[in-house]
Amino acid sequence: MGLFLKIFIPLLGLALAFYFYSAPENFDEEMLRGKRVIVTGASSGIGEQMAYHLARMEAHLLLTARTEAKLQKVVERCLELGAASARYVSGSMEDTTFPEVLVKEAENTWGGLDMLILNHIGHSYFTYFNGDVGHVRKLLETNFLSYVAMTVSALPMLKENEGSIVVVSSMAGKVGSPFIAPYAATKFALDGFFSSLRHEFIIDKVNVSITLCILGYINTESAVRAVSHAIHGTPAPKEECALEIIKSGALRRRELHYPAREVESMLLLRDFAPEFLDSLIRSNYKLENIRR
Ligand code: NDP
Repeated sequence: MGLFLKIFIPLLGLALAFYFYSAPENFDEEMLRGKRVIVTGASSGIGEQMAYHLARMEAHLLLTARTEAKLQKVVERCLELGAASARYVSGSMEDTTFPEVLVKEAENTWGGLDMLILNHIGHSYFTYFNGDVGHVRKLLETNFLSYVAMTVSALPMLKENEGSIVVVSSMAGKVGSPFIAPYAATKFALDGFFSSLRHEFIIDKVNVSITLCILGYINTESAVRAVSHAIHGTPAPKEECALEIIKSGALRRRELHYPAREVESMLLLRDFAPEFLDSLIRSNYKLENIRR
């Protein structure tokens, strides 16, 4: 019976997941036209690609990251692609005053906000945890606490406009994986915080959606540089990933799982065969390539 349940329930789950993810969706690019959107971590990777999609959809954009020269180029490209408007504010999310400064800029420029896309991450190490508590603390500030601070500052405008919060997280925020303990901690924290907040919004009838994006391995320059020598598997395209994040936010979905089949299978295994999943995860690493 136990074995039957272990096999039958994941199969049933997979069938349901496949049904829901292949069901027709009613996303229309018009949904983003003229919307006022903040994108963090927009100077490279998935954030940069989200900016380009949103520009094509004729949204108003406020982009941020630390590197001004890169942001300048992304803004120029967004204007070429058709953004209703595009500007940037450079700064570090390690600076606890920066979230408020950024949101104030949106308020002064637009007088409102429709979508807040939280996507940035600080640099971390891909190796055995070395006991550096300071690094964990710093990463929590950048990858987690600044997301909370951005949300707090932006919430009055988002409430007024019945807007959306999109939180970019990871499979590493749902299932433990080796060599990324500090990063994983920050991503699990996002799930705990924003999944709790979503309940409160519903109880309080606050019409602001929260979409948590659970991503697998994506082919951004920084991810490929950090892990390609050490894991098996081909990364999914950042352009498609960025588009799926925007669609999920616009459709006010609870969670995005991308790539769907890979993430769905891992979540099912986590719930029904966790030890098997753990051994699968460990077998995916080229341990000889991990430096201590
Ligand atoms: P990138 O490294 O390409 O981009 C990170 C962005 O964050 C950059 O724009 C960077 O710009 C900015 N950033 C870095 N440090 C800071 C800081 N201190 N303050 C403000 N901004 C900062 O990342 P990806 O595109 O690969 O990842 C985007 C999101 O997707 C992340 O949340 C990540 O966890 C998630 N994800 C990615 C996966 C992947 O395989 N790529 C897998 C699972 C999840 P700058 O350096 O100029 O500040």
